[in-house]
Amino acid sequence: MPILVYVLRIRGELALFVAIPLSPLNLNMAAADLKLAACLCLLAVASLPMLAIAECECTASGDEDSDKGRALTLKIIAIFSILVASSVGCAIPSLGRRFPALRPESDLFIAVKAFAAGVILATAFVHILPDAFEKLGSPCLVDGPWQKFPFAGLVAMLAAIATLVVDTIATGYFQRAHAKSAAAVGDLETPDHAHHGHGHSHGMPALIASSSSTSNTDEGAKLIIRHRVISQVLELGIIVHSVIIGISLGASESPSTIRPLLAALTFHQFFEGIGLGGCIVQARFRLRSVVTMALFFSLTTPIGVAIGIGISSAYNENSPSALITEGVLTAAAAGILNYMALVDLLAEDFMNPRVQNNWKLQVILSVALLLGTALMSMLAIWA
Ligand SMILES: [Zn+2]
Repeated sequence: MPILVYVLRIRGELALFVAIPLSPLNLNMAAADLKLAACLCLLAVASLPMLAIAECECTASGDEDSDKGRALTLKIIAIFSILVASSVGCAIPSLGRRFPALRPESDLFIAVKAFAAGVILATAFVHILPDAFEKLGSPCLVDGPWQKFPFAGLVAMLAAIATLVVDTIATGYFQRAHAKSAAAVGDLETPDHAHHGHGHSHGMPALIASSSSTSNTDEGAKLIIRHRVISQVLELGIIVHSVIIGISLGASESPSTIRPLLAALTFHQFFEGIGLGGCIVQARFRLRSVVTMALFFSLTTPIGVAIGIGISSAYNENSPSALITEGVLTAAAAGILNYMALVDLLAEDFMNPRVQNNWKLQVILSVALLLGTALMSMLAIWA
């Protein structure tokens, strides 16, 4: 009997599953228990081929229905449809500013933001974090400490803490810079100072710059600075996942794999575009910065697809280096987006006195949040 346990133990995870029911056997070697042991043994042996298959997949394997010509056509279609979908998604919140119902102060806009935050929350919890655990826990990573410790969780946690630190330091730095230049202007401060006084507030809207109260101006400026930091860190977190899913599409040679991926990634980038666009609008960047950020985000997945096409012959997603690189980056992105969605986006709006004093708005925000998480979670079936 100890031999059986030993044999099972060297099969890794399976040992845990079988060894626990087996341990009472050492105390009570009744015939019924032996029968049970035989059954478990049979079960273990029967599942060995499955483990062997998992091991075989570590070497690069060709797709079953590989058709390079058709695959390339689909990949080029994917590049353009994803590019258009991300740009449109990103632009929707910005264009909304032209309609009175979608002004940043309106209830509808706060609801759109809750939806967008839900999309980002689901991206972090349902898309990125499981992906990181799968990559860093892959049976193909036989060497090193990867199987002995949940590194994905550790990296995600450290990334969330790092985001908090960056958030604090960057916001503090810009606030001090603002205070210093405001003090230099002193009592002579005019509504116009925001446009000429110092670099970072050139894009400050007339609404806040022309506000009669100086303290109001400062509050508004601080809020805008926070939103700028948030939208830039957010973009950083989102692009990791966007590039990797692009690579996985570009590296595939089978049209039947690419076709559903194409549709899923188009919606994927569309919703994430809305999420990012909602934040960019609040940061009130200059038009050029808005376009740069939107373009940068829109290009990430198509660039990933292009990289995938370029390396499709050499790329093996189960090679240790690909697994570790993608796993660590993905885990870090999950931590960043978790922190941002919960602290910077959701808590900020839900704890706002205006929302706290209006139960109807609370219900609307909750529904919008759940809708965003539901749609984005559903897309995790494909990508
Ligand atoms: Zn995804």
